[in-house]
Amino acid sequence: MNRRDFLKSALTLAALAPLTRLAAKAGADGDKSSDFSKGAQVTRRRYKGTSLTLPMLGFGMMRLPRRNPQGPEIDLAEAERMFRRALEAGVNYFDTAYFYHNGLSEKCVGAVLAKFPRDSFYLADKMPVRALRKAEDVERIWNEQLAKCKIDYFDFYLLHNLNRDRWEDVKRFKVWEFLRERQKEGKIRKLGFSFHDEPEVLETIAAAHDWDFAQIQLNYLDWTLYRSKEQYEILTKRGIPVIVMEPLRGGALANLNDEATKVFKAAAPNASSASWAFRFAGSLPNVLCILSGMTKMEHLEENIGTFTNFKALDDRERAVIESALAAYRKTGAIPCTACRYCTPCPAGVAIPRIFGLFNHYKVTGNYMQFRMIYDKLSEDERASACVECGACLKKCPQKIDIPKQLARIDAELKRRPGRRR
Ligand code: SF4
Ligand code: SF4
Repeated sequence: MNRRDFLKSALTLAALAPLTRLAAKAGADGDKSSDFSKGAQVTRRRYKGTSLTLPMLGFGMMRLPRRNPQGPEIDLAEAERMFRRALEAGVNYFDTAYFYHNGLSEKCVGAVLAKFPRDSFYLADKMPVRALRKAEDVERIWNEQLAKCKIDYFDFYLLHNLNRDRWEDVKRFKVWEFLRERQKEGKIRKLGFSFHDEPEVLETIAAAHDWDFAQIQLNYLDWTLYRSKEQYEILTKRGIPVIVMEPLRGGALANLNDEATKVFKAAAPNASSASWAFRFAGSLPNVLCILSGMTKMEHLEENIGTFTNFKALDDRERAVIESALAAYRKTGAIPCTACRYCTPCPAGVAIPRIFGLFNHYKVTGNYMQFRMIYDKLSEDERASACVECGACLKKCPQKIDIPKQLARIDAELKRRPGRRR
């Protein structure tokens, strides 16, 4: 919606008066921050010494509130309530993608976010490289995204989920060249990529172009496990600002086992486990913004609290994280982030659902609860239905040996009481 259309809505205008003041202050350089405030404001970081600033907390649109827990449909009324609250607190970076919510996340931008003044928020979207089959697909999908989001430019735009194979497709279909032209036309303000692979592949991609930013998976568990430290250092050395995804590793670091939680509570009784993980990512100076896929208003409020007057970790707190991590590692949880890239399984196995249930059991120790829910899955959905075709293996950005983990779960189910088969 353009500003004139927006201003026609007197009712909406009244509710959003503070936001229009924010927009009016947006500078010609495209910065959308200001001294506008309604309550606490999250800390902002400056982009490469320019006047452009981003909130340290970004709104990931991968896990929006749903109308029904099993389906992808978004509760648009609740999403609007959360977006409004986010904007009031200065959380004005929103990150969507072609595949999020089965395509409905971009539609949510068009239906909800686009109601707000365009110069009150930053929008990041991504080219789904894995969906490309020929060069013409790039322009088709680009136009589709603009139409779905009901906007005429993206503030931040990424080549989505690059890895060794997809980088070959990027070159083959001249994706970067197409997007660079859009950037010259002003339809993309900052051009970057998101990444899931080894640091050696990142070196190649980072060196190939003059990227404005990059998005990587970074949290205290993955710092060494997923080699996020090396990835962060490669980007920092090249002067490429970092946007962080999966700071809570799909929520796992917000719901730790009792032993790890006790470590955090002993150090800071009022701080949540999630706040420790966010502070770990935010303590890195080349991190520009940290995405959180917030499903509930309470998540948003808690995160606003963490990022208001943001405080970097000190040495004592880093040692606390090390102790909590050692306690968490003992659970044997599977490092699944519930991204669902491995779905659908041709045999019907409910991969992320099974891993989520299993991890919950490993963290809580509640086998009977796990068993009760697991037994409600159909025969096709269970771990035992895996035929080891390997179709899921290449799709998992975490490089989890999915058939092996399913066999491990099935073996444990067969060993323990309560099995139906
Ligand atoms: S290996 Fe198993 S889980 Fe993976 S796609 Fe094949 S049948 Fe499904
Ligand atoms: S198994 Fe891998 S691809 Fe599937 S949901 Fe988990 S992290 Fe994502």
